[in-house]
Amino acid sequence: MPYVLTTCPFCGCGCGLYLQVEGGRALGTVASADHPVARGRLCAKGWHAHEVAASPRRVLSPLIRRQGVLEETGWDEALDFTATRLRSIQEAEGGTAVGFLGSPRGTNEENYLLAKVARLCFGTNNVDFSARLDALPSLFDLPKYRRFTLPTGNIKDIEQADLIVLWQTDPVEEHPAAAARVLHAAENGVPLLEVAIRSAQLGMRAKVRLWPIPGTEAQLAAGLLRATLHEMNPTRPARETLAATVDGWTPEKTEQVTGVLAEDIVRVGQRLAEARRPLIVYSRGMTLAGQGGECLMGLAALGQEVVGEGNEWQPLLWLTKHCNAQGARDVGVVPYFLPGYQDVGDERARANVAQVWGAAPPAEAGLSAWDMVKRVRGLYVMGDDPLRLLPGGDGTRLEFENIEFLVVQDSFLTPTAAAADVVLPGATFAEKDGTFTSTERRVQRVRRAADAPPDIRTELEVLCSLAERFGHPMDYGSVAEVMDEIASISPIYQGLSYEALDQSWGFQWSIDTVLGDSRRLDSMVGENAQDPTLAERNAVPRIDEEFPLVLVVDYGIEAWSDDSFVANAIGLRREKGANRKSDLERAVISATDADKLDLRSGVRVRIRSRNGQAQVLLGVSDRVRAGVVLAPASMGGALNGLVPCETDPESGVPRLMPCAVCIEKP
Ligand code: SF4
Repeated sequence: MPYVLTTCPFCGCGCGLYLQVEGGRALGTVASADHPVARGRLCAKGWHAHEVAASPRRVLSPLIRRQGVLEETGWDEALDFTATRLRSIQEAEGGTAVGFLGSPRGTNEENYLLAKVARLCFGTNNVDFSARLDALPSLFDLPKYRRFTLPTGNIKDIEQADLIVLWQTDPVEEHPAAAARVLHAAENGVPLLEVAIRSAQLGMRAKVRLWPIPGTEAQLAAGLLRATLHEMNPTRPARETLAATVDGWTPEKTEQVTGVLAEDIVRVGQRLAEARRPLIVYSRGMTLAGQGGECLMGLAALGQEVVGEGNEWQPLLWLTKHCNAQGARDVGVVPYFLPGYQDVGDERARANVAQVWGAAPPAEAGLSAWDMVKRVRGLYVMGDDPLRLLPGGDGTRLEFENIEFLVVQDSFLTPTAAAADVVLPGATFAEKDGTFTSTERRVQRVRRAADAPPDIRTELEVLCSLAERFGHPMDYGSVAEVMDEIASISPIYQGLSYEALDQSWGFQWSIDTVLGDSRRLDSMVGENAQDPTLAERNAVPRIDEEFPLVLVVDYGIEAWSDDSFVANAIGLRREKGANRKSDLERAVISATDADKLDLRSGVRVRIRSRNGQAQVLLGVSDRVRAGVVLAPASMGGALNGLVPCETDPESGVPRLMPCAVCIEKP
């Protein structure tokens, strides 16, 4: 039975695996023993990767909506109809009335081509993907804060760190390959600290656990920064402006605001000040929290001060949820960046792209995924599922109905595909060539192992067909040529080729030969980059006698319940118990609060906030802070009745904010 080496299609760790193939079908999965991340191991998701292609739930032919019902049709009709409808919107309202959503698990080549179609055929920078908003507002994506030389560290850094801080993340649930390394490091005596509202499984091994009041994480970061600066060796003086910014956050004041004991803040400050290779690990549990952006800025400043100038060590490690969330951003599925994070307004970058494309991309920044869903008339969705993945959850549905024409290219009938006017069936990762870029910026090959079902066309073929209908034929001889084109445009992928990738375990941009010299990344740092403001406002909701508890949306627990691959890989679904829907509707409180309220695990309760109410099952856990109700993000629509969704003023990204609630017996 042949074995084809490829890359796991699930999380951002990017484990290498082999698909076992027989008769053109992927029948099994085996870990790659030598792959630097997998190292002979996979998690449950990885072991079931072949089931994604073998799923009996695939969309197997194009669908077109007639009299409200999606009916099978042929490719020519589906593509002609799609082109006609999009062109009529373009002619009536301009290309900016059309939006394009790419995919955090589509290949780099597909994402690049989707953005190229948007920019070339429609003259719009309305290109984005829902999961990108997970990481916003982030100093790495907002041009004005781009003063940091590297986006994040590397997975191998976990085992080289001398201090690990898990900040609102649960790697066992979300990123098992990273979790294994954290565990290994902890077993080897590396001190582990945890900052969380819900303690992660690995948090049980933490030397110090800090449980701030929800909505005060940025203030805790400021307090820790001050405590660390206070403890640091005076030969490593902090920047004066930064020290002044956090000067007021004494341990006592930080305790008063965050609820974390002053002595613990000092203790952690001492640990950080002594560390030479500290690693703060975070994921969307932090970036999607009410204070994600402010918190991240505080931690970046903290990390940089601890590490010191001129030190190559990267103190932050961001773990992306999807296998190619990093790559989709790298290749320009961002409304204000061309491939390689070049500003769309940068004349030189646009001229460079024009030389390759034959026409310049537009200079005006486009709409974010959130704004697209609300404002465009035509939406082309490739492998995204905004109805499920945008931070507003099902709350976007009403806005979605304003879209005049929706086309979805996907392997499965996701909630977004089910609402579409046209569905174009997609190939899975097992049936096509390409690359993914993992959370540590490792660009790796995805290899065609299995035959796609008879009426399936790859995303690249379909995008090229569409471009041709708009008068921009894209005649690539192979997928490798698309990568060659990306490498010719994007400074960060410079020098990449399939030939080079096939002889390695992938290339990490900024480290391996792509840039050759990591200092060249300094050219990416904005000239007028600003210091972020720290801890100016907290996001603590108003608590009173009627609403004495704080409800927080938990993105870590059941992190995979919103995933179309998990939902459709039959064995994996069974393995993860994803059929037990009731578990996903369980709001969790501490044992202390359960005693006070005379409630026990498993009972049905009503949670009421100033916005509305929802009936849910109750869970009780000693891993939750007293005074907090944790609601898994998978509760979806139920949250809309409870939790306010606020738009961040800087990034325009919605966030589900902590809110005051009470729990009642129905
Ligand atoms: S840790 Fe992530 S990349 Fe590795 S096998 Fe599991 S899901 Fe796949």
